[in-house]
Amino acid sequence: MKSVNPYIIIGQGLAGTILAHHFLEAEIPFEIWDSPETHFNSSQAAGGIFNPVTGRKLEQTWLADELFNYLFEFYPRVEATLSTQFFHPMPLFRPFANEEMKTWLVERKNEIHHEYLRWESEGVWVNKAGWVDVVKLLRVSRDYFEAKGLLKIGVCAEPKGIYCEGFHGQKNPLWSCLPFLPAKGELMEIRSSQPSQEYILNKNGFVLPLGNQHFKVGATYSWKEYSNETTPEALADLQAKLQVMGVDSYEILVQKTGIRPATQDRRPFVGFHPSLEAGIFNGFGSKGVSLMPYFAKQWTDEILGRSSVHSEVSIRRFYHLFSV
Ligand SMILES: Cc1cc2nc3c(=O)[nH]c(=O)nc-3n(C[C@H](O)[C@H](O)[C@H](O)COP(=O)(O)OP(=O)(O)OC[C@H]3O[C@@H](n4cnc5c(N)ncnc54)[C@H](O)[C@@H]3O)c2cc1C
Repeated sequence: MKSVNPYIIIGQGLAGTILAHHFLEAEIPFEIWDSPETHFNSSQAAGGIFNPVTGRKLEQTWLADELFNYLFEFYPRVEATLSTQFFHPMPLFRPFANEEMKTWLVERKNEIHHEYLRWESEGVWVNKAGWVDVVKLLRVSRDYFEAKGLLKIGVCAEPKGIYCEGFHGQKNPLWSCLPFLPAKGELMEIRSSQPSQEYILNKNGFVLPLGNQHFKVGATYSWKEYSNETTPEALADLQAKLQVMGVDSYEILVQKTGIRPATQDRRPFVGFHPSLEAGIFNGFGSKGVSLMPYFAKQWTDEILGRSSVHSEVSIRRFYHLFSV
């Protein structure tokens, strides 16, 4: 971006927080604005899972090696900076969906296999998976930024800055031409003695152990409406997921909701506006925990003139949509 000094980061969700940590490390001056009273925060509802394997065919996620090598460096580094723990590498088990799928996958095991998989008779173990306690990362980072005098509460009046607004970004006239495709999501926290406390169970949903027989269960997808209200439909969906994962005795502690800032081409929006003093770091959809660190580093390096943001992520791919 042309010369804005210090940078104004707008939004202290997971995106703004991770970008701010990169700016701090690179000694790029900034202040960070947040307004959860007027713009609800979706990161508070995140499962926080990172998982390099996706889809029915157990494929590696896009850029898995780059993303996962970097996130295993980044989160522990921030833990040291903040003197706290929120990064929890943990085995993840994906049972085969059914006998037919098991046969199909096992017959193709040699073609499908990659370094993130370990095969067992009833499913696969996923290496390099785990979860980030997003609520804790945000809370401790907020205190840290505040102590440094970098945090401002409210909506920044100046129409310039680096916008990390999550799903609210689609209503911002600066960015409304970008092809957002938000997805509402809900999860719940339960107490139960049934699931394992040692690993994340992932079968058309997930059961994530938090300790002391406390688990997160998720997550739903819906495109009907984008309020921050929980719904009975999602509750029923979550209970059905639990049933499929073999859990039928539990106490529901809380139900949470948020909006994933997803995009039509399933790639984030990172970069500067073609003509204004504004930038965007958004569109991380359902994979913010694994995508944000790597692309925050790439963009920081681009700002320092060291390299460029990946072409599939840079908003240069949409410059033709902006009227200049
Ligand atoms: C149910 C659910 C489960 C999920 N599970 C996972 C998971 O397991 N793993 C994973 O990687 N991802 C998961 N996600 C996705 C993940 O939560 C998102 O990718 C991520 O939280 C988005 O963060 P964000 O910072 O872009 O947006 P947000 O968290 O919404 O943050 C935006 C922030 O900006 C502020 N803001 C907005 N506009 C303004 C403004 N104009 N002025 C000032 N402040 C402003 C808001 O107050 C808010 O604090 C899940 C999402 C949901 C809903």
